[in-house]
Amino acid sequence: MLDPVPPATELHGACSVGLDVGGTKVHGVLLGPDGTVLGDERRPTRQGPEGVLASVEDVVGALVGPVGIAVGDLGGIGVGIPGLVDPGTGCVTHAVNVGIRGEPFPLADRLASRTGGVPVAVDNDLNVAAVGAAHHLARQGRGSEAGAELAYLALGTGLAAGIVLGGRLRRGVSGAVGEIGHVPVDPRGPRCACGQRGCLEVYASGSALASRWPVAPGLHAPAELFAAAARGDALAVTVRDEFLDAVAVAVQMLVLTYDVADVVIGGGVSALGEPLLTGVAAALAARGELSPFLATLNMADRVSLTPAGVPVAAVGAALVSRREVS
Ligand SMILES: [Zn+2]
Repeated sequence: MLDPVPPATELHGACSVGLDVGGTKVHGVLLGPDGTVLGDERRPTRQGPEGVLASVEDVVGALVGPVGIAVGDLGGIGVGIPGLVDPGTGCVTHAVNVGIRGEPFPLADRLASRTGGVPVAVDNDLNVAAVGAAHHLARQGRGSEAGAELAYLALGTGLAAGIVLGGRLRRGVSGAVGEIGHVPVDPRGPRCACGQRGCLEVYASGSALASRWPVAPGLHAPAELFAAAARGDALAVTVRDEFLDAVAVAVQMLVLTYDVADVVIGGGVSALGEPLLTGVAAALAARGELSPFLATLNMADRVSLTPAGVPVAAVGAALVSRREVS
């Protein structure tokens, strides 16, 4: 739901746009001066560097028009994109889902020159989602945004987390912060796309579920698996419970590494909703029963799901642009 829009004169230079660029759609929000969402638009993603740029421009134009400001009046534009990004230069070096590969594509510079010099920040999609999730929790009255200690755990095709500590996004020295999907948990496990064996991602991701519970095209493997398990299918119960325990391991890694107050689960698999949250909480509680040490950490209480309909990645992208500019 959108918030009331203030007069255009109050919005000049004070609004920012955040964009979540995905493989099929670009989702954008217009963020007002006080962090409220004033506009929300989606357009299909056109593939390739020029296609992404054009799709992003379409969404920016669609967001500013209705509130009576020009693109050049924006205080900043933030873009979250799945792939390898250099936030310092705003270059995207590899984003296979949107057809950017090979030569680094200077998305920030190209977009800034097409918008009359509006400052543009580009970051990895999980990083901006973590910032957006911290913003959302603070607006719900759960902790302060400035002091947020949070991990955004994306259960998508792969498994990785964005990390906010002390209210600040952490990227590390090479951008590998939160890449827990490639921590090996079984040296004899299946080969991972990264070259190692038995990575956590092989057990706790959307692609892991899709390979263990094949479904007809167009169906959502996690939903089919959980439905079969709920009907009492013994194999489905086993596959579901092993998956839930692997997600619990991911949560445990994040809590033991960063001691974050919140682990917010997002990504495509999180569309499962309550059954996923309940299942992960039960798996964490079971771990606590085996270990008095883990029990003291109350890990289950730290886990929540990205609420349906809340565009955390797009909002986070707008916030990242604002912070980079200020
Ligand atoms: Zn791996």
